[in-house]
Amino acid sequence: MANDSAPSVGASAGQRREYLRVASRVQESPGILIDLRRPEVTQGLLGTWLRCRREAKYFLQGWNPLQINDAFQYGDMAHQVLDRAYRWHRKHGKVPSKQAVLKMVDHSFNLREDRLLQGTDSGKLLEILHQQHAAVRAILPEYIKFWKEDFDTHAYEWARPEKVFRLRFGRFVISGKMDGAVRSRDKLLWLFESKNYSRINEGEMIHTLWRDLQVNLYVWALRKITGEHPAGAVYNILRKTSLTYRKGDSPSEFEDRVREHVKADPKHYFKRMEITISHKDQKLFDDELTEHLELFWAWLKGGMKSPRFGMPCVQKWGMCRYLNLCYYGETRGYEKRKVLYPELVEE
Ligand code: SF4
Repeated sequence: MANDSAPSVGASAGQRREYLRVASRVQESPGILIDLRRPEVTQGLLGTWLRCRREAKYFLQGWNPLQINDAFQYGDMAHQVLDRAYRWHRKHGKVPSKQAVLKMVDHSFNLREDRLLQGTDSGKLLEILHQQHAAVRAILPEYIKFWKEDFDTHAYEWARPEKVFRLRFGRFVISGKMDGAVRSRDKLLWLFESKNYSRINEGEMIHTLWRDLQVNLYVWALRKITGEHPAGAVYNILRKTSLTYRKGDSPSEFEDRVREHVKADPKHYFKRMEITISHKDQKLFDDELTEHLELFWAWLKGGMKSPRFGMPCVQKWGMCRYLNLCYYGETRGYEKRKVLYPELVEE
């Protein structure tokens, strides 16, 4: 890529002027969190920017909706438990027992419940959280049982337990947090990504996942880190239950019903797909990534112009998170982050 953002020693007066001009223009935008000397980009930011420039601008300004999205809350809780279960296995060298998994689920739930209890007006969210907790308690131990071979016969060997990466790409740093990387019995390297979905359409996924931004960016990262071409991604899908609370259900009754449902048809709940990505397509992605990032940089330099009309304000997970801010200038219901990517701050 062309010249780096911060002028190096020996840079020409023209390069320094250009840098100062760009830096001052971008910093005119109040509270922008990206560091122009070393702009850090994640698939989340890039995907947001590709979707809507205005949404990306609010994100860069640090705006966060206070309202927790319940789909993200569920995914977050299930992800945390999976992560802890696989770490537990690496540490102890055996399959975590059902009791150990339930303890992990409860720990993850308690953290979220404490956070919600600190907020006001969290009654409905707490109710949803309790239902999600019961569902995760039912599903996760069955997942561990179903994919027991992950732990004992090692159908996949963990190739890379470290998750957070930060890699140079021209003037940018590309960052992210991958669920893991595995090596199959035929010694191929794969990105391992876990997802929690309510609806699983394998046909659609086979046709579209090889072009998914996150999959490709993380496969790119894995290639940079290891120096070898990954074969693609293992998509590890856990289905969310379609069962709902019945009137008068207690959390444990709901948990038992979901558990029986999973036990009756575990293949419906747990699926894995190997999405191969050819070397040629990995190279094509590199080229497109370069183009996207050049355009992103030009947008930053140009003062982050962000049109409002014709944008995808209703998204696949519901209304855009910034709708009130964007349509009505309403800042109530939002807070400002201090760091751009809190999820990448290592514990
Ligand atoms: S509400 Fe629409 S225009 Fe505004 S940030 Fe969201 S997607 Fe973009």
